Amino acid sequence: MQDDITYDLAIVGGGLAGLALSIQTAKAGYKVVLFEKENYPFHKVCGEYISLESWNFLQQLGVDLPSLNVSHIKRLQVSDIKGTFFEQPLPLGGFGISRYKLDHTLAQIAKQAGVVILEQTRVNDIRFSQELFNIESTKGIFIAKVVAGSFGKRSNLDVKWKRLFIIAKKNKLNNYIGVKYHIRYNFPDDLIALHNFKKGYCGISKVEDDKYCLCYLTTADNLQSGNNDIRKMEQSILSANPHLKKIFSECEMLWKEPVTISQISFDKKNLVEDHVLMIGDAAGMITPLCGNGMSMAMHASKIVADEIIKFLDRTISREAMEKNYTDKWNKLFANRLKTGRMLQRLFDSQWLTTLMIRLGRSFPSLIRMLIKQTHGDRF
Ligand SMILES: Cc1cc2nc3c(=O)[nH]c(=O)nc-3n(C[C@H](O)[C@H](O)[C@H](O)COP(=O)(O)OP(=O)(O)OC[C@H]3O[C@@H](n4cnc5c(N)ncnc54)[C@H](O)[C@@H]3O)c2cc1C
Repeated sequence: MQDDITYDLAIVGGGLAGLALSIQTAKAGYKVVLFEKENYPFHKVCGEYISLESWNFLQQLGVDLPSLNVSHIKRLQVSDIKGTFFEQPLPLGGFGISRYKLDHTLAQIAKQAGVVILEQTRVNDIRFSQELFNIESTKGIFIAKVVAGSFGKRSNLDVKWKRLFIIAKKNKLNNYIGVKYHIRYNFPDDLIALHNFKKGYCGISKVEDDKYCLCYLTTADNLQSGNNDIRKMEQSILSANPHLKKIFSECEMLWKEPVTISQISFDKKNLVEDHVLMIGDAAGMITPLCGNGMSMAMHASKIVADEIIKFLDRTISREAMEKNYTDKWNKLFANRLKTGRMLQRLFDSQWLTTLMIRLGRSFPSLIRMLIKQTHGDRF
């Protein structure tokens, strides 16, 4: 065993869901340990557009957003593969900040709140026995009363536990790749654009310090058809959209290579696995075109924190903690994920995308309605 401490809460994965949960529970007076396999700060595949839903929550956690020089995004543009587009104001809007900066800031706040953050520490297994968890990590074995799994879209634990979405047959919703760059480019500060291409879409919006995030999602077979060469795929497939052709040919790339991830799945996931409470993408991932996964990850941390605190205070049983969390999560997010999957299927088809763009030009209220279906209120 690593030390004699029994932690109240162990959190596996230090993205937005895990870090936000660690701050809330440490501030409530509990002993919290968080495992993160990387070293802060680090880059991550993400479009870096955050819905305003989360603004107040982040400020309450202690993130001084205005001083981080975030961009304020108020307009949405969507184009089809040929470049035909609509543009309209976003009902709520959002802001842009890199994950490099945001996750690092949250990690610093968590440390100040007393969270033990173990960086470069991968968790390899979690076992529940006699009301305690044994957490096997690359830094030894740790003991905790509660464990939250916030290890993102796909991790070694998903594979080890053979979670349902891992063993599912390949289908239209479970074999995507994500690619991200930071660029400099002459582009409006208050606009987020989503440009479609064959079997994918690419977003661009401003983050801090005059940088823009350029991030796209596509199918693994799109990459395979270009001999697994990202640049070739960008030239032959993405650049068929004239907006993307212009961006890729005129922008200044700030990194030599993009950050990439593969095997992204939007299939359903279990919210509790052998008493481990799943939050963020580990609980279920909304399709990125909704621009809302980060807010959902943070909001889930808030509802699970309430239940964990009640359990640690001995006000409710473990069974009630798991049930209350599952019920609240489903009430808040299940329909949003469903709409996200429906939109993803729709954007997979070129003619349906073109139809959507035409409808969006003529009936902006339809687009507002769809955005509302995938977003929630401030929390
Ligand atoms: C292409 C793309 C674009 C997107 N664009 C947007 C957008 O513009 N706006 C938006 O709101 N959302 C967007 N999303 C979704 C958003 O990125 C996620 O919903 C969000 O990052 C979820 O946060 P999380 O904390 O659950 O997971 P993550 O941020 O992925 O954090 C998980 C952490 O767990 C760590 N980890 C994994 N396994 C282990 C282990 N075994 N031990 C220790 N650590 C481990 C990882 O290193 C990682 O840091 C996008 C997603 C994709 C794929």
